Amino acid sequence: MNYTRSSALFAQAEKVIPGGVNSPVRAFKGVGGTPIFVKEAKGAYLYDEDGNRFIDYINSWGPMILGHAYQPVVDAVVEKAKKGTSFGMPTEIETQIAELAVSMVPNIDKIRFVNSGTEACMSAVRLARGFTKKDKIIKFAGCYHGHSDSFLIQAGSGASTFGTPNSPGVTQGTAKDTLLADYNNIENVKELIEANKNEIACIIIEPVAGNMGCVPPIPDFLKQLRTLCDTHNILLIFDEVMTGFRLAKGGAQELYSIKADIVCFGKVIGGGLPVGAFAARNEIMNELAPLGPVYQAGTLSGNPLAMAAGLAMLVELNEDGEVFNRLAEKTTYLHKGIAEALNENKVEHTINRMGSMISVHFDAKPVIDFKTAARGNNDTFKKFFHGMLNEGIYIAPSAFETWFITDALSYDDLDFTIEAVKKVSKIL
Ligand code: PMP
Repeated sequence: MNYTRSSALFAQAEKVIPGGVNSPVRAFKGVGGTPIFVKEAKGAYLYDEDGNRFIDYINSWGPMILGHAYQPVVDAVVEKAKKGTSFGMPTEIETQIAELAVSMVPNIDKIRFVNSGTEACMSAVRLARGFTKKDKIIKFAGCYHGHSDSFLIQAGSGASTFGTPNSPGVTQGTAKDTLLADYNNIENVKELIEANKNEIACIIIEPVAGNMGCVPPIPDFLKQLRTLCDTHNILLIFDEVMTGFRLAKGGAQELYSIKADIVCFGKVIGGGLPVGAFAARNEIMNELAPLGPVYQAGTLSGNPLAMAAGLAMLVELNEDGEVFNRLAEKTTYLHKGIAEALNENKVEHTINRMGSMISVHFDAKPVIDFKTAARGNNDTFKKFFHGMLNEGIYIAPSAFETWFITDALSYDDLDFTIEAVKKVSKIL
């Protein structure tokens, strides 16, 4: 493949944008090489500035669950744009998407729209603190909840000590209120609660983790978290930015029959426009301004174009009773094909999958948390990434990312991908 124009555009971008990108993972730092500059995309395919075509397994990191430039979404945005792009005043469409989201997702009465997953999680934590009148939060190593200060924290020296900032600019003061637990380790969570009695406002978790590759919860882990939260007056926040409107209509809450207190959304709910949201039962949501004292706001929140895209997307997902099954079947097919190809060539690996989230880890042992995810062979991953790219398959340029399967993928696309894995696994 020829990337001449992408390379030139990247060099130009680097002069005026830090690292040439507006979000770090796009820069290919983890895998080396030059990022591909996208010209356009349709259905399951991306077309770059050099005229190369790729089957897309990132799909804007999740939102394009029905494929790129999905016609009902495009039409809704175009029609709305003709009538004005922002008012900073209430519009009917905000209520329409809110009503639909509340009808699809269990255990929520009200939802507030924001502009990103980061904002959704950051606001959810503030709301939990305001509601419980406690300060500390528990998050899990390897889970990502956006780039707000409270989440950019790494484990301290011992399991029950405070976290420490993992980015300059995050203060020790902030870090001391975030406690880190290991994913899928309920004993670890119990120790933290014990060591910080009556101080923990909430536990925030990706109910199926997608930011250390795909790591599903082990049986009963979420149920045990729910019980712990009930016992200790802690709110359980499900960060469903990835899983919401992807694993099922009602997301992971529906899939695992676990009730969260606050749910965060992003990605699919905006149909590819910048949207996030957080939702909960009335008792909690009524604490938010202007009803209650917990402040949260946004000039562009509930933006008409974003709401039009999100509503068109949710309507499609709500009306197509088979879409989530179809996505899971396609992902299962891909899983089987990739596993066979890697096994044939004796490439050590573990594949994790849940619904339409899947990831390939280059280590034979089970991947259940951040430590086990980090054991994967990064050199093998880099070769795999570039090998696949050369075959016209675009997967995430980092070993810690999930592949997001889109319904636009045909079985021919999946077969083409599996054939590519067969070729590439010979050089791993
Ligand atoms: N939570 C999760 C689970 C995510 O995967 C992400 C983004 N990948 C975020 C929050 C942050 O969302 P955004 O990038 O829209 O701010």
